[in-house]
Amino acid sequence: MANFNIEKLVRPNVLAMKPYSSARDEFTGEASIYLDANENSLGSSIDGNYNRYPDPLQTPLRIKLAELKGIKPEQVFFGNGSDEAIDLLYRAFCEPLKDRSLIFPPTYGMYQVQANIHNTPVDEILLNPDYTLPVDKILKEINPQVKLMFICSPNNPTGNLIDKKSIIKILNSFQGLVIVDEAYIDFAPKGSSMATEIDNYPNLVVLQTFSKAWGLAGLRLGMAFAQKEIIHILRKIKYPYNVNELTQQCVLSALKSPSKKEKMVAEILEQRSILIKEMQTLEGVLKIHPTDANFVLVNVKNATEIYKKLVDKGIIVRNRSNVALCNNSLRITVGTADENKLLIQTLKELLK
Ligand SMILES: *Cc1c(COP(=O)(O)O)cnc(C)c1O
Repeated sequence: MANFNIEKLVRPNVLAMKPYSSARDEFTGEASIYLDANENSLGSSIDGNYNRYPDPLQTPLRIKLAELKGIKPEQVFFGNGSDEAIDLLYRAFCEPLKDRSLIFPPTYGMYQVQANIHNTPVDEILLNPDYTLPVDKILKEINPQVKLMFICSPNNPTGNLIDKKSIIKILNSFQGLVIVDEAYIDFAPKGSSMATEIDNYPNLVVLQTFSKAWGLAGLRLGMAFAQKEIIHILRKIKYPYNVNELTQQCVLSALKSPSKKEKMVAEILEQRSILIKEMQTLEGVLKIHPTDANFVLVNVKNATEIYKKLVDKGIIVRNRSNVALCNNSLRITVGTADENKLLIQTLKELLK
C-alpha cells in the first residue's frame, strides 16, 4: 500500500485534539507515596486491593500478549471487549453522515449497530453463495467514501475462514482500513491469522478477543493489532482506564499458563467433529456448512419450527433463518460432550 497516510484518514477533530492526561500517564515510575490521583489511600471496601487506578496502557499484559502473537507491544490495543475497538474505529475514522463503512453479510451484527450509533452509512455487498469473499465485485463497487471495511474470519454466523489471498488483494488496493475480525481464530488451522501481516500493511487492523477460546467472556477483554500509528489513535480517544484491574490481573495469569486454553480448544475441536458426524446422519439436516470456528451453521428443514421446539426442551441455539443467505439455518455452538449428545438426541426426535 503505497502513499498510505493515516493522518488523511482520521477525522480532523481527532487528529487535532489533545487527549486526557491522567495521573497515571504523567507519572509512570515507581514511588513510595502516591497522592496524585485522589484515590483512597487506606484501601478498598472489600477484601483485595482495588483502591488504585489500573494501568491505562496495560503494559505487562501487552508485553506478554505481543510475545505470544509474535508482534510488538506498541502494535497491541486492549479494549473492553473487541466491541470497544469497533466503536473506537468508527469514532476515529468516520465523520457522521459522510464517511461510510462496508460490510459483507451474512456477518457479525455489531459492525452495523456501531455504524448506526455513529450515524455512519453502511454499504453491503453479500458474500458469495459459498460464503467466500467476492473480491473483484468489492474492488469494482466500493464507494470512495468508505473508510472502514469489516471482514470477519472465521465468519460469524457461517463459520468459514476467509481466504488470506483475497484479504491481501483488498489490502493492496483499498485506501481505507481493512478490519479483520478474528474472534474465532483459535479454532481455525494454525497459520490462518492475519496478525503476522500487520508489519506489511499500514491499513490492516486485526481484532481478537478473550471471549471465545480463552473462555473469559465475562472479563471483557478484546484486542486490536495494527501498526503503531493506528494504535496511537485508538489510545488517544479511549476512556483512560478502559480495562479494569481485575481483568488485567486475571488475563495476565491466563497468558502465563495457556495450556488450559489449548486443552479446551482441542476438546472443542474434537467435539465439533463428533457433532458434525452425528448431524450428518439426521434426517431433515440438509447441509452442514464447513466450519473453522466453535460453532456450526446447519441448514435444516423448517428451521424456525425446530428452533422453537428446541427452546421448549430447554435447548437454545441461534436461529439465523432471517439473515441473508442463511435461509432455514441454525447456528449451533459446540457444547460439552453431554450437551452435544442431548442436542443430537433431541434433534433426532424433532426431525423425524
Ligand atoms: C463473539 C464475537 C466477538 C467478541 O466480542 P467481545 O466484545 O470481545 O466479547 C467479536 N467478533 C465476533 C465476530 C464475534 O462473534
